[in-house]
Amino acid sequence: MPLKVLILGGSSEASALANKVAGDARFDAVLSLAGRTQTPTASPIPRRIGGFGGAQGLADYLDVRTIEALVVAVHPFAAQMRRNAVAAVRLRPTPLLIVDRPLWTPQPGDRWTRVRDMDGAAQALGAAPRRVLLTVGRQDLAPFAAQPHHSYLVRSIDRPQGAPAGAELILDRGPFTPDNEQRLMAERGVEVVVTKNAGGDATAAKLAAARTLGLQVVMVDRPPLPDLGGLDAQVVADANRALGWLSHQARSATERDV
Ligand code: NAP
Repeated sequence: MPLKVLILGGSSEASALANKVAGDARFDAVLSLAGRTQTPTASPIPRRIGGFGGAQGLADYLDVRTIEALVVAVHPFAAQMRRNAVAAVRLRPTPLLIVDRPLWTPQPGDRWTRVRDMDGAAQALGAAPRRVLLTVGRQDLAPFAAQPHHSYLVRSIDRPQGAPAGAELILDRGPFTPDNEQRLMAERGVEVVVTKNAGGDATAAKLAAARTLGLQVVMVDRPPLPDLGGLDAQVVADANRALGWLSHQARSATERDV
């Protein structure tokens, strides 16, 4: 029997893992998305969309669908979903894997100001008006709307609600190249870039561009991982290692069955 897997997606790693397990007879995998992106990329495996109704809702889903392995490959800033997943497997024991891609770390020439959260990022822009490139996603703009003395350029995949008054919008999805990022920043007169420490290659070009242009980057630290104490749980950095973990789970399940 194939291993029944639930992949909580919404990241490039989740999409890569879905591609790897598609058509692999060892797995019967479903990809779950929150439904935030209006035009999600096509999925090579069955997909469900929408919240579960908190940790209990997810635990019930694991139970009803007899899920044998849960892979949490949400975006590293989707902290609520990560917490819910950990709480769910405490309610309904299920082997758990969290995919947590490596952090970005400063390189020589970088001018980073690290902050704990989005409020800290808005405060770090200071009292004097500045030209700001906001690449924090469309759900986290409220603290900047409360600092209307800056001139904002907001980039997001879908049209944001609650953008700062007068903000210019760029609707675009990575991957981006350093050359294009540099051109964008220079042509639009950007003085400071605000970003989450998402990690990964798809959106790292803005950091290289800011370095070349000598611009300040306000870097929002990643929320800590939930406590995994006492759980059958692991953390890996990428989709290849996630496939390795799933392969191990499939082997163990087969050995149990014989
Ligand atoms: P979040 O705050 O951690 O989650 C909020 C709620 O959304 C969860 O409690 C859950 O609802 C639902 N949810 C989140 N991910 C889900 C999934 N994969 N499948 C089903 N329900 C899910 O997450 P978020 O920051 O709103 O992010 C939502 C989605 O966008 C995630 O898939 C994430 O990977 C993606 N994303 C987030 C960011 C970011 O910076 N936060 C950036 C890029 C992409 P219930 O409690 O009802 O189950």
